[in-house]
Amino acid sequence: MGVTRAVQRVVVLGAGMVGVACALSLRQRGLSVTVLDPLGPGAATSHGNAGVLARSSLMPFNHPGLWAQLPALLRGKNPGFRYHLPWVLGQWRWGLSFLSHARTAAFLETTTALDALIRESGSVHRRWMVEAGIAQRRRDDGWLFLYRSQAGFDGGAFGRETLARFGVATQVLDARALRELEPDLKPVFPRALWVQDASSVDSPTEVVRGYAAWLQTLGGSVLADEATGLHRHSGGWTVHTRAGSSLDAEHVVVALGPWSRDFLRGQFGLKLPMAFERGQHRHLRPAKDTVLNRPVYDTAGGYVLAPMAQGLRLTTGVELNAQHAPPHKGQLEAAERAAREAMPLGERTTDPDWLGSRPTLPDCRPMIGECPGHDALWLALGHQHIGFSTGPGTGELLAQLMLGEATTIDPHPFRPQRFLRA
Ligand SMILES: Cc1cc2nc3c(=O)[nH]c(=O)nc-3n(C[C@H](O)[C@H](O)[C@H](O)COP(=O)(O)OP(=O)(O)OC[C@H]3O[C@@H](n4cnc5c(N)ncnc54)[C@H](O)[C@@H]3O)c2cc1C
Repeated sequence: MGVTRAVQRVVVLGAGMVGVACALSLRQRGLSVTVLDPLGPGAATSHGNAGVLARSSLMPFNHPGLWAQLPALLRGKNPGFRYHLPWVLGQWRWGLSFLSHARTAAFLETTTALDALIRESGSVHRRWMVEAGIAQRRRDDGWLFLYRSQAGFDGGAFGRETLARFGVATQVLDARALRELEPDLKPVFPRALWVQDASSVDSPTEVVRGYAAWLQTLGGSVLADEATGLHRHSGGWTVHTRAGSSLDAEHVVVALGPWSRDFLRGQFGLKLPMAFERGQHRHLRPAKDTVLNRPVYDTAGGYVLAPMAQGLRLTTGVELNAQHAPPHKGQLEAAERAAREAMPLGERTTDPDWLGSRPTLPDCRPMIGECPGHDALWLALGHQHIGFSTGPGTGELLAQLMLGEATTIDPHPFRPQRFLRA
């Protein structure tokens, strides 16, 4: 057990899943917490995701099998992966570092670290959803990887072996067993993998809002305002905001998701090696008298279809591009065509199409810890594809580190010093 440091006030920048979870973990330990976000809770990346909380997400994109897949990916053969070449070339340092982690030793470190973070997050989410009064938003019936051919299924062998090694509960299904689980899927999938160690929610935004509302009942504050400047002084930090406020705190947490990169560079000149794995979503109505019970990932179609309060949410795979570049409409249209081959779908809902960015560091692990060279500035960012799942585990680890408590999981793989120097 470490020595408890004296901490009273914390300002958390960003009210996505990660920021709100950090605030909850800190508030539950008695700290005074204010969360700032101009959009309010859960309105950005934590709004648009597929809402899957899965142990299978321990597999990073840059696993050792990536090398064999790379030629096809670069030729645009996989609808789940697009890239904007000029932007990617400009990110060559990130790209080389990302690829250098697609080797066995780094893969083992990342999968072990993510498994611990996901498992910790799973139990915290379960507890918090009950305490926040939003447990009804959660389904615990897993999710499905769908394969359109035996060859596609065989190509997923490495992933299945990895999940088995970590004891993730899965079941291989043939077409008949899949029909029993999801009778309204079209008969185009001879094989499927049912990841049973997985849950999902029917509205990621409402889960973050539910957590934020609970935070407020516990005495935390959530302000609709934007942090525009951080000033360090002997007593801690002053956070200046767009609305003209100045908030004093002993500690500041940066949980700005994809905005973290520009913010840290603008404030401190820090070069965060973060790329944007952009993704889109669109809502479609299920065809009359059809139901999808759980999220499905069509591995050949490169999309996820997830039942949500708004209808069926179709999310695309990855597009490597600048955070604020216009959306790649072709990727979303291709995902919709592929989804219509898989499931009888009705019209689009009136919800607008959405674009967001998965914030990804080269080793596919988030940064959780104190920023090198900046006392009492804490980082909780870089959660790539799994920040909705892993927000609570991040919050717990960050609070334990800040207060000098014993940590539930090993903090070492998440230390900011991996990529930032004092
Ligand atoms: C298509 C898609 C599907 C996904 N599916 C899943 C999934 O199924 N499961 C899963 O676990 N993860 C999924 N993810 C990943 C997940 O959504 C992200 O990892 C997670 O939402 C990141 O949360 P965050 O809190 O770090 O960032 P965000 O949710 O983006 O929050 C950052 C917040 O910072 C705010 N902000 C920006 N600038 C400022 C400022 N100056 N001052 C104050 N606030 C500011 C923004 O308004 C924003 O609300 C998916 C992502 C995408 C794109």
